Amino acid sequence: MTIGTNFKTVMDRIAAAAKRANRDPASVKLVTVTKTVSREGIREALSSGARVLGENRVQEAKEKIEQLGQVAGWHLIGHLQTNKAKYAVKLFDLIHSVDNLELAAEIDKQAAKLGKVQDVLIEVSIAGEAAKAGVGIDDAASLVRQAATLRNIRIKGLMTMPPYSDNPEASRPYFRKLKELSSSIEKENIPGVSMAELSMGMSGDFEVAIEEGATLVRVGTAIFGERF
Ligand SMILES: *Cc1c(COP(=O)(O)O)cnc(C)c1O
Repeated sequence: MTIGTNFKTVMDRIAAAAKRANRDPASVKLVTVTKTVSREGIREALSSGARVLGENRVQEAKEKIEQLGQVAGWHLIGHLQTNKAKYAVKLFDLIHSVDNLELAAEIDKQAAKLGKVQDVLIEVSIAGEAAKAGVGIDDAASLVRQAATLRNIRIKGLMTMPPYSDNPEASRPYFRKLKELSSSIEKENIPGVSMAELSMGMSGDFEVAIEEGATLVRVGTAIFGERF
């Protein structure tokens, strides 16, 4: 299977899942996850139609963006350390992984220096696993309210990563909870905050995520094959 064929298959599966859920396929965006993928692989995905690329490490993304240029939208999907916020703000259109106020404040400060308003998602740990990234479900709304007061970041929605399972149905309750949380935060009408985006679903479970309301699915392996 080539990257081009895989890409098209994933796009078809996204459209089919959206239709099953009575959703417009255009309401789901594919974030093509290019971590560890070579420049040739990325070029192939771009020529197949990839419009948004997801990276999980700032340094790796920086090298690729310098080499490939602004060929697509670049999203940071992985954990961000506060001391790397400065670089992330320069590189990414959307940061999916804001999970604490200190990080939000640093992104805000660095974005202000660049005269940029940085779009971000709040990463929520639905399962509440202590070692995992993400703000706990009970603290998420409060983080959104506090981060909403920062002038140079704009909250666009929520992101989650359920515990790993090879059964896609195992992810469904987590996706459903993220959607419920998003709806309840939306009802607060917090000034400047949008809950339009729900970033959830990866190669193993993106169709279930779409059925549960995902607007951004982050898919790597199903396009590029197993990572080494
Ligand atoms: C690697 C990664 C993905 C993509 O995972 P695949 O199973 O390869 O599709 C999605 N989201 C995050 C945060 C990742 O780090």
